[in-house]
Amino acid sequence: LVRLRGVRKRFGPLEVLKGIDMDVREGEVTCLLGPSGSGKSTLLRCINHLESINGGKIYVDGELVGYREKNGELYEMHPRAVAKQRRKIGMVFQRFNLFPHKTSIENIMEAPLGVARRPRAEVRKEAFELLEKVGLSEWANHYPAQLSGGQQQRIAIARALAMKPKIMLFDEPTSALDPELVGDVLEVMRDLAQAGTTMVVVTHEIGFARSAADTVVFMDDGVVVESGSPDDVFDNPQSDRTKGFLDSVL
Ligand code: ATP
Ligand code: MG
Repeated sequence: LVRLRGVRKRFGPLEVLKGIDMDVREGEVTCLLGPSGSGKSTLLRCINHLESINGGKIYVDGELVGYREKNGELYEMHPRAVAKQRRKIGMVFQRFNLFPHKTSIENIMEAPLGVARRPRAEVRKEAFELLEKVGLSEWANHYPAQLSGGQQQRIAIARALAMKPKIMLFDEPTSALDPELVGDVLEVMRDLAQAGTTMVVVTHEIGFARSAADTVVFMDDGVVVESGSPDDVFDNPQSDRTKGFLDSVL
């Protein structure tokens, strides 16, 4: 469903992604691990073309992301075409960034109404189903400021799901939360994984990666150092860099 080939990204002189190859199959969960600054967030942002790339290709659902290929050359896509591609990709950030002046249910309904222009009654019904899915049916009419960080993050997940994306990208969704709130969010993510949602998750939650991931990818300094099943990567890491990192987080 997602295919990266030789993806490169530079910020000025700094090369942050140095030729990344990665495949995510439909229904699979990939957890992306690596030290700070290794390029994990940048990689996620490239997948939905929040960042342009300087080399290589990214495909989502069979479509080249962000570029049009013509006679072997790549051209930037029209912003409207990019926006259309992005609807296939849900993203959840470390900071939940909900609209503060909108209630939970309004936050969830915003994109299906405003972007997809779907009928209000239908969108509302689905929004309630999503609230139930993330365990927050009782909180439909509360504003973000009235919710805990964990509840806000679950609303953010529901909001991303409302556009029925083909794939969900999570960038350290629990790292800004108080420890006692992390579990509820991980549980929602585990439910999604079990229901067959295709997900790429940047996380330092090794327990989650172990139990939910089909594939674990370890990145360092802009390259994929190692990837494999959680058992392979966690119990039998091949690279010293992976070993060192795991020692530091476990
Ligand atoms: P963390 O675990 O701290 O979130 P990360 O693996 O997500 O780290 P990135 O945020 O992808 O790392 O950053 C990789 C490198 O790219 C860092 O050196 C960072 O300073 C640099 N970088 C990221 N975004 C930009 C930008 N917009 N302009 C310039 N440099 C950037
Ligand atoms: Mg990051």
